[in-house]
Amino acid sequence: MPPLNQRSPITPQIVCKVAIITSLSAAFWLSGCTSASNNSPSASSATSSAQQPDLRDKKVILTTFTVLADMVRNVAKDQAIVESLTKPGAEVHGYEPTPSDLARAQEADLILDNGLGLERWAERFYGSVSDVPHVTVSTGIQPLEITEGGYRNQPNPHAWMSPRNALVYVENIRKALVEIDPVNEAAYNANAQAYSQQIQAIDQKLQTSLSQLPDHRRYMVTCEGAFTYLIQDYNLKEIYLWPINSDQEGTPQQIRQAIDKVKANQVPIVFCESTVNAEAQKQVAREGGAKFGGIFYVDSLTDASGDAPTYIELLEYNVDTLIKGLQGG
Ligand SMILES: [Zn+2]
Repeated sequence: MPPLNQRSPITPQIVCKVAIITSLSAAFWLSGCTSASNNSPSASSATSSAQQPDLRDKKVILTTFTVLADMVRNVAKDQAIVESLTKPGAEVHGYEPTPSDLARAQEADLILDNGLGLERWAERFYGSVSDVPHVTVSTGIQPLEITEGGYRNQPNPHAWMSPRNALVYVENIRKALVEIDPVNEAAYNANAQAYSQQIQAIDQKLQTSLSQLPDHRRYMVTCEGAFTYLIQDYNLKEIYLWPINSDQEGTPQQIRQAIDKVKANQVPIVFCESTVNAEAQKQVAREGGAKFGGIFYVDSLTDASGDAPTYIELLEYNVDTLIKGLQGG
């Protein structure tokens, strides 16, 4: 890890960050906030917020996508400002960083990414922000390899879809926060412990729920092959259209293979993910004799009013949707 950068004096952009974090606790996409003279209600409250030294001194943690931001927020709580480069609902694999993303990365105290090939687009600006430490939170996880398509033999990046792996993420996040902000070590330790207990509880809940499914109803059919880690944890079976988003999505060959597998295994229901087009999977349902069961969340959370505003709710929503679909509910 490179030497920690000193927090620069507060800038108009940081004033705006503090204002929005204060007024919208659930919001973490801060684009468009380039000037404290902005006339928005958020900006008008910026001055009073910025005058509070405790807010101004907080570390800014920049993450690459919303799922990771939520995990970090659970470990940081009020001790740091946590942001995501990509917005709720955005596709993360093929994201194109903007000049303002680079500016935000340069302002951050710490950048946290998933690794395992998820954010190849982020690599291009790490060279420009070499004085900002960056930590890959999947470090220590046993990667599962993609077994087909153009990504064959590369690691599947979706390790967070396993709650057991998420415990490794949390520990890496805790260590990274303590490293840059040792004054708040006790808080980070306590928060990480409490959040890990929540993740262990959801793991138990998923285990119990999914154990109800009979052998012939254990297929999870998705658009992206993003559930491999979760499927391994809970002894499910996997069928997907394409291995990684931003690969070729929904080619005639992929659709044909999925239809054949759905038919051969008499799978009653298929699903797709929130960040991609579901049309190919709807065709699989029509021609494979299955129902289309709706949307899973993987690469992005929803906003606060959606089905999956947090990582834990994302896991619960997916498994509830799967079980209801497979049981014909
Ligand atoms: Zn994905």
